[in-house]
Amino acid sequence: MLGLIFLLVISVLALSYRTFALRESKSKALSIAELVRDTLTSYMVMGIMDRRNEFLDRIREIPTVESIRVIRGESVIRQFGPGSLLETPQDDLEKKVLAEGKVVEFLEESIGKTTYKVVIPYKAVPTKGINCLNCHQAKEGEVLGAISLTMDITPVRNISLILLLALGFIFFLGMISAGIILKKFFQPYVKLMEQVKYAAQRAKEGDFTYRITTELKDEAKDLVDNMNKTFEHLDRMLREIEEKVRAMIGYSVLKTGDILSDTSKIVNELLKIYKFKRVVEKDKTKQDVYKRLIDIFKEYMSLDKFSFYEVDPKENRIKPVWVEGMDSWCNEVIYDNADECRAKRTGTSVDSREFICLCPNFIDNEACTSGRLRYYCIPVYVGGKVGNIFQIVYEPEMEEFIELLIPYIKGYLGESAPVLEAKTYMDLLKEQSIIDPLTGLYNRRFLEETIDTITAQIKRRGTTLGILVIDVDYFKQVNDVYGHEAGDKVLVEVAKTIRSSIRESDIAVRYGGEEFLVLLVDVQPGYSVHVAEKIRKAVEGKVIDIGTVQLKKTVSIGVSEFPVDSDKIWQCIKFADVALYRAKEEGRNRVVMFTEDMWTKAEY
Ligand code: GH3
Ligand code: MG
Ligand code: MG
Repeated sequence: MLGLIFLLVISVLALSYRTFALRESKSKALSIAELVRDTLTSYMVMGIMDRRNEFLDRIREIPTVESIRVIRGESVIRQFGPGSLLETPQDDLEKKVLAEGKVVEFLEESIGKTTYKVVIPYKAVPTKGINCLNCHQAKEGEVLGAISLTMDITPVRNISLILLLALGFIFFLGMISAGIILKKFFQPYVKLMEQVKYAAQRAKEGDFTYRITTELKDEAKDLVDNMNKTFEHLDRMLREIEEKVRAMIGYSVLKTGDILSDTSKIVNELLKIYKFKRVVEKDKTKQDVYKRLIDIFKEYMSLDKFSFYEVDPKENRIKPVWVEGMDSWCNEVIYDNADECRAKRTGTSVDSREFICLCPNFIDNEACTSGRLRYYCIPVYVGGKVGNIFQIVYEPEMEEFIELLIPYIKGYLGESAPVLEAKTYMDLLKEQSIIDPLTGLYNRRFLEETIDTITAQIKRRGTTLGILVIDVDYFKQVNDVYGHEAGDKVLVEVAKTIRSSIRESDIAVRYGGEEFLVLLVDVQPGYSVHVAEKIRKAVEGKVIDIGTVQLKKTVSIGVSEFPVDSDKIWQCIKFADVALYRAKEEGRNRVVMFTEDMWTKAEY
């Protein structure tokens, strides 16, 4: 840019100087030529033309005059003869002036020399009181001759060149100094801008550790101080957040080095986990919570291989939380003995990378040892004990992704744990309130709570519900002879026998002391007596070991069917009771189906 300006200025100067020099030379040349013309005219008037060469020689002595010639026009030649060779036109330029009577000039430039030639005509025109036609035989206005003057203007050109160079050099020096001064002035600002750019770039990438330095003392210094303070503040705050998050989820979550976007992602994830907690708190059952967790792992985290287990602390068993499409990645041995699960037994996470395939109960140990699959099992503490185990199975190429997910998975599991604990207690309480603790069958309360729902379903489906009222024969004797505990034992064994004689979907209830009520759901009409008979026989054949002796007991069973015998369920139960009464009457250890005539004859 500076170079261009320099060239432009030099060109303008050169052009103007050249024009000026030429104009000066031209005016000087014209003056000389006119002087010659007027002097010669005077010589002629005075009749001393023979001294003209002397005069011309003097003119030639002027330093810049290279040549001067007086050229004769046609009328002069005619009147005075052609004169010397010097007095005849020697080039087209001179001929043109003689022909046209106009001044012509010509500049000839070569490397070493510059000449300026001017040819001026003198015409037969009266001037300054002198009438040319007095001496010349010519027409008025005719070109009498011309003065041809050539001037060497090389020194003028050289001076102008030197001047130009000097000017150029001064200008160049000026430009350089201006550049240096400007650079010196702006350099700290340029340096500062570069630092600001770098700091902004790093901040964009989430790194706020860079500090800008400057020697400037003006407003720029305030800007630098403010920027540094802002970066420092951001860096400190974000690190504090990161530390708190780390303390909260137990892992460092800084992965990319971009503290801002990492933190923002973490806060977002935590917010999701928090919302998740709010939602599961309102879920009705444990199964709902499981379903929601599994949805998160499957849909949101895109995990495709995982299992979720629930520990039954009473039985020390493990069962997979079943959700459609989910596999179990453990040998079934853990189902019967929860301690076979390493995560459950140790209460710590099990990582197959820590010690190659350290759990013998992973379903595909070959895949694990060959490095095709890895697993990570997380125990979930519910009420101070391992209540669930979450197992992730993944391919080695997923390692980085899984590592990133684990804190969040733990977050979700951790937030679910108190809800699962509350639900477990609720389930337990509920179970306790509807289950008879001695026999494990439902109690009368359960029957009262659910009977309306059961009968509504039977009615909707248009099926039949079989009702069996079962009473142990001569039970009092057991108590009397062998004691109350033996009686309890008999009740437990009879209950077990009943339970194993009916379908999973049937409902067995301990109805009274040694009385049981069985509801046969969706039974074929008339088939209830066969089930009753099956129970009767099973009890009859059962040997009950009460420790001291072995007993055999029988039961009497009254049978009715809903809605065959009545569309009022409690009425039907009453009918079964009436039939039981009849069975007792008829000698016990038998099944009696209710018939209408029993009701009219009944003494109730
Ligand atoms: P029956 O053949 O007429 O039914 O004669 P039974 O002796 O069984 O007579 P009943 O049905 O009246 O006897 C009920 C007895 O069952 C009374 C009570 O002492 C006993 N019983 C009720 N609940 C329990 C219990 O939880 N444990 C024990 N051991 N005995 C119970
Ligand atoms: Mg009884
Ligand atoms: Mg009895």
